[in-house]
Amino acid sequence: MSEKKPLPLLRARSPSRCPVCGQGSYSRAGIHPQCAARQADEKRKVRLKQEALTAAEETPTFPAVASAPWQRSCPKCRALQHVRTKVCSCGHTFAVQVRPPAGEGGCA
Ligand SMILES: [Zn+2]
Ligand SMILES: [Zn+2]
Repeated sequence: MSEKKPLPLLRARSPSRCPVCGQGSYSRAGIHPQCAARQADEKRKVRLKQEALTAAEETPTFPAVASAPWQRSCPKCRALQHVRTKVCSCGHTFAVQVRPPAGEGGCA
């Protein structure tokens, strides 16, 4: 009866340490797959954050935003207009929604 435990062969090799979590890693790359994924995710998060910041900077701020369904802002002078207004005071012509003629003047 032998109570001798076999020495773990892997321990013989000095494991490379995972640069992410600092734990020994026996994988060939020396980094845990999940740690590599986490590292890539962190990089992606940073990049997304930077992209969001630049996007926020580039997005023009409209001082007048239509807050009511019957309002719309002129893309030229940004003034709020009634949706029925076809031509803005600045001269911008709104795109007219083409409606089918059916029902027009139906009831007198
Ligand atoms: Zn790790
Ligand atoms: Zn206008």
